[in-house]
Amino acid sequence: MKKIKVGVIGVGYLGNFHAQKYAAMEQVELVGVFDRNEARAREVAEACHAKPFTAYHELIKEIEAVSIVTPTTFHHQVGMECLQAGLDVMVEKPITVSLAEADELVQLAADKECILQVGHLERFNPGVMALEHYLDNPIYIESQRIHQFNPRGNDVDVVLDLMIHDIDIILSLVQAPLESIHPLGASIVTNSTDVASAQLIFANGCAATVSASRIAQTNVRQLVIHQQKSSLFVDYGKKDIIVVERSGAMTKTGFPVEEATHLPFPDQGDALLTELRHFIDSVRSRRQPRVSGTEGRQALAIALQVISALQEQQAARNLS
Ligand code: NAD
Repeated sequence: MKKIKVGVIGVGYLGNFHAQKYAAMEQVELVGVFDRNEARAREVAEACHAKPFTAYHELIKEIEAVSIVTPTTFHHQVGMECLQAGLDVMVEKPITVSLAEADELVQLAADKECILQVGHLERFNPGVMALEHYLDNPIYIESQRIHQFNPRGNDVDVVLDLMIHDIDIILSLVQAPLESIHPLGASIVTNSTDVASAQLIFANGCAATVSASRIAQTNVRQLVIHQQKSSLFVDYGKKDIIVVERSGAMTKTGFPVEEATHLPFPDQGDALLTELRHFIDSVRSRRQPRVSGTEGRQALAIALQVISALQEQQAARNLS
């Protein structure tokens, strides 16, 4: 099978891993990498047996598909140039900083018939993927992504940094339009929101609560989905999945009879490798990827609504 020629633009913390995963894939030729920081590009290229480029326009000419792993503010500019050149694009999350930019990327990808995948990595989390089989019209969803402080990623607030992962997962679980959002949040140690929660109410009656923090003492990453006949509990950190099924029978005390099963956490290697393999499969098959540009745009739209409501709350607090 012909190898797909791939490049990575932006090889800082995460881009380095993109380059490593591509370099290890048999069906891919990692042609080269580009980073504004030339020394970093050389270092990653050398480790991955690829070529360091000093201008990304030169790299673009030699490849068919690209990962864009620059800071988010550059996703639009770099993405537009890559799509214009006819490349299939895997852009890290969030897709862009604004909806207007996201719309342009999605439109150009459609016009050029290019694959556009967004790096919502958590959709490739084996715990999330294992739930698919048990999904049956969620009624109430709770998600928590509570992290210790990490100096990386603080160029954006906790909503774009962490909460957007769960917003994307919840949108993929609920097949109904979102009707309303009720957020709360505060900036504690940085100049932007560090802790936030939001209630999302969908047109089919499903409600979700999503909480995110980047200033916790311990890391907690959990997802709970309640449905009519079952409840699903995933602890990503502990790698634990519990499926509780209700047959409809009642106990003597009037509580539904429940049967709880601990599922083995699937061992599918790492989520980034699964995600990038999926991108390469989409490039080859020309099928829409699991997290398309449109889905990345939808998650961004809701994250921006949360941010805007939080800013209004903060402004009101400052006035009072
Ligand atoms: P980073 O700061 O470690 O790396 C960014 C790299 O891009 C740096 O090496 C920098 O020199 C380079 N760069 C800056 N401007 C550039 C440009 N115009 N062209 C080429 N290179 C440029 O950041 P990071 O943590 O690797 O994050 C990169 C992206 O990945 C961000 O969009 C971030 O939101 C996303 N991210 C996603 C996840 C996830 O879970 N999916 C996790 C971490 C980061």
